[in-house]
Amino acid sequence: MSQPLVGMDLTDLREALGPDQPGYRARQIYQALYHGQAADLAQISTLPVRLRQELAERHALGLPTVDRLFESTDGTRRYLLRLADGRTVETVLMPEGERDTICISSQVGCPVDCKFCMTALMGLERSLSAGEIVGQVLLVTQENQLRQEGGRLNIVMMGQGEPLLNLPNVVKATRILLDPAGFALSPRRITVSTAGIIPQIAELGREPVRPKLAISLNASTEEQRQQLMPITRKYHLKDLLAACQAYPLRPWEKLTFEYVLLDRVNDTDSDARRVVKLLANLNAKVNLIALNPGPGIPYATPLPERVASFQNIVRRGLPCFVRKPRGLDIYAACGQLKSNSQPAIAPALPPRPVHP
Ligand code: SAH
Repeated sequence: MSQPLVGMDLTDLREALGPDQPGYRARQIYQALYHGQAADLAQISTLPVRLRQELAERHALGLPTVDRLFESTDGTRRYLLRLADGRTVETVLMPEGERDTICISSQVGCPVDCKFCMTALMGLERSLSAGEIVGQVLLVTQENQLRQEGGRLNIVMMGQGEPLLNLPNVVKATRILLDPAGFALSPRRITVSTAGIIPQIAELGREPVRPKLAISLNASTEEQRQQLMPITRKYHLKDLLAACQAYPLRPWEKLTFEYVLLDRVNDTDSDARRVVKLLANLNAKVNLIALNPGPGIPYATPLPERVASFQNIVRRGLPCFVRKPRGLDIYAACGQLKSNSQPAIAPALPPRPVHP
């Protein structure tokens, strides 16, 4: 069987249909895939039955399947999704009041090796195709009948993997998600997060259609950052900040810096003051995340007072927010995504205390 349909753009679809089909057929399929959200080729009722059959013989639709679903007491849902080659990857849905956020993966595992992150323990298995990136969004949207009117839906590429080490597929997926004729998401509703792969930051900035950019800072000095995120031995803080300075923000856009707070490692008041200095010249905001712990992670979560003190100092220089952990009880929070079909990794349903 040749290429799956999900992940194809209009050009790919025209090519897949061949010269005998009228041009509007590709548009009909494109719309059905991403806008109408077909869960099955047979559902694309705008196409003649014969063409649907021919397509089904040659192409899979290509959506992932749900291998396991974990549900948190806070409403977060962690999907372990199975891909066509049998590998699994995670996607997390976080419903919250007026909005839903889907956190998607860009790779199976991750090559970056951050010392506080559970995904790092997997190493890199492979990058995802554009279709596997878009497929996560389509599947979770369908499964939960999510609506995106009024900007309800947000997508963050903060799951497994380093998106900027899979940039062509991330960009292709983003184009489909943002295309008004495709998934039609607003560009303000999609964010990509990077450990700071400098050449690809510049490359992303040259893309006319792109997500918002978040950068995982996670340290206040070069030395500390190199210890916590070994990949930054290659991509230095000074050069990262220069790339951020040169990054072409859109008029409504700010850079986001993420900072994982590790107890007594990078969470002191002096760290906070250094963060303010580092970011002083940027149009930026800071999101603080108190460490989400996990097996194999040699750090502890700071006390709430420490987090508050850090926030108060950073706030004097730039907007600073504390991200609430979501889905901690099911290993769905930031840095906890480690594909594992073994039930031991997290209970499918958290055990409930039994009251007499
Ligand atoms: N590779 C990308 C995207 C995945 S990580 C990146 O590095 O940005 C997404 C975010 O989760 C990053 O900001 C990362 O620093 C944070 N993170 C990783 N492990 C964490 C943990 N154990 N607790 C809290 N946040 C964590």
